[in-house]
Amino acid sequence: MKPSDAHVLIVGAGGIGCPALWGLVAAGVGRVRIVDPDVVELSNLPRQVLYTKTDVGAPKAPVAARAFPDQATQIEGVHARLDHTNADELLREIDVVIDATDGATTKDWINQLCVRVGVPLVHAAGLRSEARMLVVPVGGKPCLACLFGRLVEETGSCADLGVWNGVVGTIGFMAAEAALALLVEHDGPTPGYVVLDFEARRSLVLGAEPDPDCPVCARPAGIEPYPEAVACAPLEGVAAAAARSLDLRAERCPMNLLRARRALADMETGGILEIELGAEGAETVPDGVRALGHTVLAAEARGEGVWLQVRAGADGEETRLTDEQLRQYARQIVLPEVGEEGQRRLFEATVEHTSSAVAECYLRAAGVGKLEDVSKNLPPELQRELSLLGGVLFAEHAQRALVLEREDLPLMQMPRLRDHIPGKLP
Ligand SMILES: [Zn+2]
Repeated sequence: MKPSDAHVLIVGAGGIGCPALWGLVAAGVGRVRIVDPDVVELSNLPRQVLYTKTDVGAPKAPVAARAFPDQATQIEGVHARLDHTNADELLREIDVVIDATDGATTKDWINQLCVRVGVPLVHAAGLRSEARMLVVPVGGKPCLACLFGRLVEETGSCADLGVWNGVVGTIGFMAAEAALALLVEHDGPTPGYVVLDFEARRSLVLGAEPDPDCPVCARPAGIEPYPEAVACAPLEGVAAAAARSLDLRAERCPMNLLRARRALADMETGGILEIELGAEGAETVPDGVRALGHTVLAAEARGEGVWLQVRAGADGEETRLTDEQLRQYARQIVLPEVGEEGQRRLFEATVEHTSSAVAECYLRAAGVGKLEDVSKNLPPELQRELSLLGGVLFAEHAQRALVLEREDLPLMQMPRLRDHIPGKLP
């Protein structure tokens, strides 16, 4: 099948769905349907690169569908949750599905759906510094459940869930490439289970063998009702921060941890802070403040949540970001290796890059202060646009080098360019 004849369904218009759509459009895929039930939030912008501040509050899928007005691809943005009531309609005439959702039970259900309906699936996921992908052929064998069994929703990890934007960006563009490969070569060998680990700077392809006892593709069962997503988005409105007591019952993760962290950082070492948390914060914030070097002196159940008494242990942070900045970049800041200090470095940085719309887009979304295109300084033979994947890898490496203040990170796939870029590399 030619890409221009293909019809692809992307489930999820978030950090993976945005680059997946970009990749399909760039490859000239004929039709794409993108489906998502959510609206754009401020904290989405650092990694969901098709949205801007003016889109906050608008439904994601229709906004994403309007992001490429000059391209030939016909894009349909559906503001809905893919579930058992609309799956037949949304899968009609679809040649391949890209799962760009988050949440284990959602991915489990989409895997089941695609195996049962007989549509090939590209499963993609990203968290913190790691991204994963599996291509599931028509009917499975292997499918996601062959590798992991039936998945259940992870609980209590929201505050830990940060992600680098280049991680989800990379796997989104790779998912688009994998979908295109499926369209061209329907019965080709499955590439295996791809694991990219940016922290360790390595990629692995693990063999993905069919499980003869797979609960999904060996014995196709009925499709279960669609699971309710676990809400992880910050609520509107900010609870008042006080010096000695903090009511975070209205805050969701990861803002509740960030606010607790800031209040503790403002205190003298040994100072006591009382924190009230709702059910969600009760799961994650106590461990989060311990991980930051503070001591939880007392914890009592209060309603669905918990009341904590914490002694400030770590030294106060010098960095002060505004509340708006905290809220927008929450998922990056919550990464242990980034924090407010790392985010401030991004704000203050200047990155020189060679002509790449993708690199620029991801660096700008991450909050990098100044971007300069230096491609005109390159010899003519090197004055060309980076590939989509090359661009996002560059952006990921540049951010990591800025935040971690390391100069020894290799520039993946771009050793020749490195010799020709004037000045200090990020
Ligand atoms: Zn299976």
